[in-house]
Amino acid sequence: MKVIDLRSDTVTTPTEDMYKGMQGAPIGDDVYGDDPTVNKLEALAAKTLDKEDAIFVPTGTMGNLIAIMAHTQPGEEIILERNSHIFLYEAAGASRLAGVQSMTIEGNDGIMDPKEVEDSIRDENIHFPTTGLICVENTHNMAGGMVQPMENLQQLKSVASRHHLPMHLDGARVFNAAVALNCEAKEIAAYFDSIMFCLSKGLGSPMGSMLVGGHDFIYHARKLRKMLGGGMRQVGVMASCGILSIQEMPEQLKVDHENAQILSKGLNKLSGFSVNLEKVHTNIINASIKDKNISSDCFVEKMKKKGILANPRGKDLIRLVTHKDVTQEDIHYALTVMESLE
Ligand SMILES: *Cc1c(COP(=O)(O)O)cnc(C)c1O
Repeated sequence: MKVIDLRSDTVTTPTEDMYKGMQGAPIGDDVYGDDPTVNKLEALAAKTLDKEDAIFVPTGTMGNLIAIMAHTQPGEEIILERNSHIFLYEAAGASRLAGVQSMTIEGNDGIMDPKEVEDSIRDENIHFPTTGLICVENTHNMAGGMVQPMENLQQLKSVASRHHLPMHLDGARVFNAAVALNCEAKEIAAYFDSIMFCLSKGLGSPMGSMLVGGHDFIYHARKLRKMLGGGMRQVGVMASCGILSIQEMPEQLKVDHENAQILSKGLNKLSGFSVNLEKVHTNIINASIKDKNISSDCFVEKMKKKGILANPRGKDLIRLVTHKDVTQEDIHYALTVMESLE
């Protein structure tokens, strides 16, 4: 049976070029700083986002955690969006491992009101924790891959500057945001002191994320990565893929976004599906099946039996994600299958 996996862009497999690159990559012990391919990847990531330095980390979750630990002291408070990945999906690492408390802001499609952020920054008072960091997510995963408007980032940045607070970007999909805005990723990164982005999602690498920022921050991050058990050895094999992810894969994201549009418009023509096209900015689609009178869990099970994989989200939403291993032909096939399901 033909299987089309629309659960996430994390399911992408390496490109032919990546497989070839892995074979020939010069490697060394990266904990000693001896892996030339990792060093090349880190320099490339820093240059691409126009920051001083970068560090290769095994996962985005570790990248975010290291950033929080490096920017804050235990007992401080961080400000982040209520539906952010850090708050919802990182097993409370921020509280357990970084020892910080979360002050959440209910965003509008993931967009935090700068005024509300400013009002949430703690005054000096013996009863209060100290605010230590503001985190932003772009694109916003739970909001269905929506892009955060540049003006909003600018306003958040001025709030942060006024209060001498660092800003961290959970930019797991920041290259998708850049493609959607038709700008360079460094224009988004400019508002932040640190940025995490994933090589392992739409950019196609089998693993890995980058944490990017200033010299001192990355030095500190290296120590924290070691502490968390993320110091890796001959990992140039993987970094060779990461280099190709940054150099070649952002082009692919354009195709993924086009495919998401085709899929969304196709779903809107089927009975019982509804997608708000204004909210499909990148490669993630939250499709409502409210009118089908079936739970999303059940519908996703039915789809799975026919070889179309998606993730249920809440009672009546299903999440579909386009990526390099799903072609336009696959999208049309998936639509035909979904049409046939009750
Ligand atoms: C996937 C993702 C992460 C973390 O990635 P892992 O590599 O799976 O740990 C962080 N933030 C967002 C918004 C993500 O989508």
